[in-house]
Amino acid sequence: MICHQITDLKKNRAPLVSAEIARPVPGVKDVLIRVTACGVCHTELDEIEGRTPPPAFPVIPGHQVVGRVVETGALAERFRLGDRVGVAWIHSACGRCPHCLAGAENLCAEFKATGRDVDGGYAQFTKVPEAFAYRIPDLFTDAEAAPLLCAGAIGLRSLRLAGLRDGQNLGLTGFGASGHLVLKTVRYAHPDTEVFVFARSGLEREFARHLGAVWCGDITEASPEKLHAIIDTTPAWKPVVAALGNLAPGGRLVINAIRKESGDQSELLNIDYPHHLWMEKEIKSVANVTRRDVREFLELAAAIPLRPEVQEYALEEANRALIDLKERRIKGAKVLRID
Ligand SMILES: [Zn+2]
Ligand SMILES: [Zn+2]
Repeated sequence: MICHQITDLKKNRAPLVSAEIARPVPGVKDVLIRVTACGVCHTELDEIEGRTPPPAFPVIPGHQVVGRVVETGALAERFRLGDRVGVAWIHSACGRCPHCLAGAENLCAEFKATGRDVDGGYAQFTKVPEAFAYRIPDLFTDAEAAPLLCAGAIGLRSLRLAGLRDGQNLGLTGFGASGHLVLKTVRYAHPDTEVFVFARSGLEREFARHLGAVWCGDITEASPEKLHAIIDTTPAWKPVVAALGNLAPGGRLVINAIRKESGDQSELLNIDYPHHLWMEKEIKSVANVTRRDVREFLELAAAIPLRPEVQEYALEEANRALIDLKERRIKGAKVLRID
């Protein structure tokens, strides 16, 4: 399923086009993967609508890829044919710059994203440098493993950046693929932490309550108590302003979104310094993921064990999955099944 150009999903309901192309040829240190499942991420909407545009077209989107190794490059030796592997958002980084050397390869200037800067997993085959592929723990099905690779890994990174200690309460603004995995992770990693969920749709709030949130309200509601940290996974600005109002003194808002939509940017003018920012409140963004985030989240998810709630679509239904995501028909994570 190929993206040929930037488009407005409100007008174009079928942004991706199905096509037959040649099977990719792995480079010397690459593995070629026969894809069986690929998660659908909000970032794909940002790519297709041009908020984080692919540098060149056409491109195959998709960065939560699970499949089997079917070919290895001449110098690739980490995996054997038939091994089940995953590919995440980080397709490669330079490995030499100060960020890479300090373990922050997510900040590398040469960071390449799967499905944006190079072809991704909305396809039968994809290739990746072997150093950027992950073994998938046995207990997950291919479809369950897919959302762990982005929604889960970036959720873990957000949680780390939130600096939360067990027993401190946490807010989640938006409750899609990443939010629901953060909630499941928190219940294991911080058993005494209470989770408050802010979500626009009743379906999402009901889902959050079912997974153990102590309180659920609309995006702009005031929480019954002030929160030590809030993780925002919405595409908008209004929830950011509301979240700042719900933070406790010294609290931190972590924005987990590669780009925000600009439609309601004027909401930022409603920031009232004493109410929203004073008392040492902080705002921090989350950028990309490192291989360590992905590896550690896969291990953690297997230990919990944490099973993502997935909704499956056939590869040919990728456009419908994207529109459902855009229109927030969400329960858990969306995954394309590739036979
Ligand atoms: Zn993603
Ligand atoms: Zn680098």
